[in-house]
Parts: sequence; structure tokens; C-alpha cells
Amino acid sequence: MKLITTIEEMREISKELKKEKTIGFVPTMGFLHEGHRELMRHARANNDVVVVSIFVNPLQFGPNEDFDAYPRDIERDRGICEMEAVDYIFYPSVEEMYREGMSVNVHVTARTNVLCGESRPGHFDGVATVLTKLFHIIAPDRVYLGMKDAQQVAVVSGLVADFNFPLELVPVDTVREEDGLAKSSRNVNLTVEERNVAPTLFKSLQLAKERIASGEQEKEAIIASMRELIEKETSADIDYIEIYSFPELEPLEKLQGRMIIALAVKFSKARLIDNIVITVH
Ligand code: AMP
Repeated sequence: MKLITTIEEMREISKELKKEKTIGFVPTMGFLHEGHRELMRHARANNDVVVVSIFVNPLQFGPNEDFDAYPRDIERDRGICEMEAVDYIFYPSVEEMYREGMSVNVHVTARTNVLCGESRPGHFDGVATVLTKLFHIIAPDRVYLGMKDAQQVAVVSGLVADFNFPLELVPVDTVREEDGLAKSSRNVNLTVEERNVAPTLFKSLQLAKERIASGEQEKEAIIASMRELIEKETSADIDYIEIYSFPELEPLEKLQGRMIIALAVKFSKARLIDNIVITVH
């Protein structure tokens, strides 16, 4: 396994590899956990070469968000990548990625007026901009993204289609702790008490799923019951709880077809998101 820190070297390597091999790419912000590892395993199983990027991208953090507090541990991450038989880690500095500042940015115009797009203005522009750069640098055949960030999957599939990137986007199911909490690098910023109650988020999603399965059609009633459960069991501030069509992220007249039930909450030092995607016939 090789760790690459410059764009030039990464480009040279991917240019050579492309001649004969397929490249599977897993973009991450590091502090790797089982969720990232699952993406790496999918990449490993279906490509000749696996590239993982580790880059905490300042462009996708708002001014009052946790860019500085975002957990980082490259040595630990290196060991994990080694265990997953990753071939290359691309680990550029912020200066390397944005050396001369940016005179052009990608602006996402659909699927961002709801969920995290609404509560984190500019976030998906930052994601789309850095991925555009990474796709050019690494030239992957397949890119692996987690459904944990389902809106990201929806937005990036638009980016790939609209900008004609010659790659396949592969969504991977959310990996959870045994108690249901979605694995996240940010979970380390929960207090012990918050960690104990955090599985309530997934429980509320399951509650919604059960209510829809048993015929409840009132979206607001479902959301209210989720809100009630989270407020009863945790001290978290609810950022949003919403239900939309997936992947279009449009409001639903009726709770029918493929839909996402998604939430974001703020604990004292960690904002957590979770979702499930279900299909109702
Ligand atoms: P991040 O490092 O948080 O930017 O995540 C990098 C990639 O890992 C994204 O595609 C995420 O959706 C994915 N990911 C993060 N957590 C999980 C999880 N619990 N299960 C599956 N994929 C995940």
C-alpha cells in the first residue's frame, strides 16, 4: 500500500493504472470505521485497484461547523486501509487541494433545498466541488458511497450524470452498531450518556416504517410520533425529520413508492444524521 500526498503523483499513477486496470475509489474524510471498511470491501471485490482518499474538505463545512473538531488519525487509518488490502491512500493537504484558491466552484441546483442541503447551506456545493477534483485526479471506474449519506448519493448521481463522468456510482447500505446506531466518525464526540440514548434515532426510523406498513398515511402524524420518541428518550435538539421521494427528494402527495425517512439531530458536540429508504406498494 502506498500513501500519496500530491495531486501530480496521484494523477501519474492513475494514468498508468488506467491503461490495463479498473480503479475502485472510496472518498472519505478519514477516522475510518466499519462503514468505510464496508465500502472498501465492495471496492476490493469488484476492481483491480482500490484507492481511498482521506481529506477533511473545508469547503463542505459551514463557518460554525466542526471542521477543526472533526476527528483525525492518519496512522490508525493507514492500518485499517492496510487490513482492507487498499492499494493507494490519497492524502492531500488542504493547501495541496486548494493551492491557488478556487476561481470556479460547482453549484448544485437540485435535491439540495431539503434535509441537510437546507440546514447546511453550501455543504453540497463543497462536496460536489471536491468530488469533481477527486474524480479528475483519480479517474475511477467505480465510486463507492454510503447510503448513510443518502442525500449525498442523490446529489452525486446528478453530478456524475450532468458532468458526464465516465464512472459508475455504487451505493452501499448503512453499517450500524449492534444497537442500531449508524456508524459515524462523529460518534466519538458523543458523551457516554448521549451514546447510550443515540440508538433512539434508528428506533424512531423503524417506528415510522412500522406505522407506514400498517397503513398510516398521515405524514405529519408519523413525523410527530418520531419527534415525540426522540424528545422523550434523548436530550438532542432535532434539526429535521422529513419524508421525501427517493432519489428525487420531492414532497410526497401520498406515502407510496420509494421514499426516504431522514433525520438530523444535534447532541452537545455532535450532529448526527440517519435515514432509511423504503418502498411502499
Ligand atoms: P465520511 O468520511 O463521513 O465523509 O464518509 C465517507 C463515505 O463513507 C461516505 O460515502 C459515507 O456515506 C460512507 N459512510 C459513512 N458512514 C457509513 C456507514 N455507517 N455505513 C455505510 N457507509 C458509511
